Amino acid sequence: MADIPFHERDGWIWMNGAMRPWKDATAHVLTHGLHYGSGVFEGERAYDGVIFKSRLHSERLHRSARLMGFALPFSVDDLEAAKAEVVRKSGLASVYVRAIAWRGSEKLSVSSHGNSINVAIAAWEWGDYFADKMKGIRLTIAPWRRPAPDTAPCQAKAAGLYMICTLSKNLAESNGYQDALMMDWRGQIAEATGANIFLTRDGVIHTPTPDAFLNGITRQTVIGLAKARGMDVVERAIWPNELADFEEVFLTGSAAEITPVREIGGIHFKPGAITEQLLNDFAALTRRKNAA
Ligand code: PMP
Repeated sequence: MADIPFHERDGWIWMNGAMRPWKDATAHVLTHGLHYGSGVFEGERAYDGVIFKSRLHSERLHRSARLMGFALPFSVDDLEAAKAEVVRKSGLASVYVRAIAWRGSEKLSVSSHGNSINVAIAAWEWGDYFADKMKGIRLTIAPWRRPAPDTAPCQAKAAGLYMICTLSKNLAESNGYQDALMMDWRGQIAEATGANIFLTRDGVIHTPTPDAFLNGITRQTVIGLAKARGMDVVERAIWPNELADFEEVFLTGSAAEITPVREIGGIHFKPGAITEQLLNDFAALTRRKNAA
């Protein structure tokens, strides 16, 4: 299935309130969301048929839409029911779930007044986000920075914001890396192109304060797991000239889960006891049904 193009696959996609055959879940080419990046979306994973922290994702989709100036025509409860149905109809226990909302094709101009709000939910089988994830991945430093909070609504999981991520990730992959570490507009360490970052030193876990990027649901989960183990977690401004002082580095995200990092731009790290403990705790949590 993995190498079949998305538009040629079979299955079901929930769209605007109803299940549609996968190939019929289409939008017109003159769609505002396509031309002006006005969509918001979620990436989630179901384990054993249950979406991890599903409600938090649905609430964030609503929040992202509000930050982009629109309201979703479906409640959080509606989305919860739809996502559960999409997972069920996929027939798979472990799936990636993508919910997206976008401005429609009634009109096409920078202004979006008069455009409908559309919502779709699809699920597909997706293994590890990074090939050879457990070996530890290599990051390069992105030439693009995360925008300042007064440049873009940086707490929204907004499609338009991923333009910078795609540029950075493509460049990283072209140069033989798996991903890129992005700085924020001040030059502080922000995040990878689709995941948050944690760094350890002397048994203490450090992670950038999420004041210019997504405070990931996985990030918050991992901070909770670390604290439950009695580990110290420090959220602070972290500068790139500190990188060489850290011992273990890992990324967190719904797709990336917990991914060890073994290199950032020529500086080497060794996944160790802290990463391993959190990987085990995260695996135990996501595979427990009542974690949803
Ligand atoms: N930052 C970015 C840019 C992301 O795309 C993601 C994945 N949604 C994250 C961080 C991590 O967020 P979460 O743990 O909620 O998936």
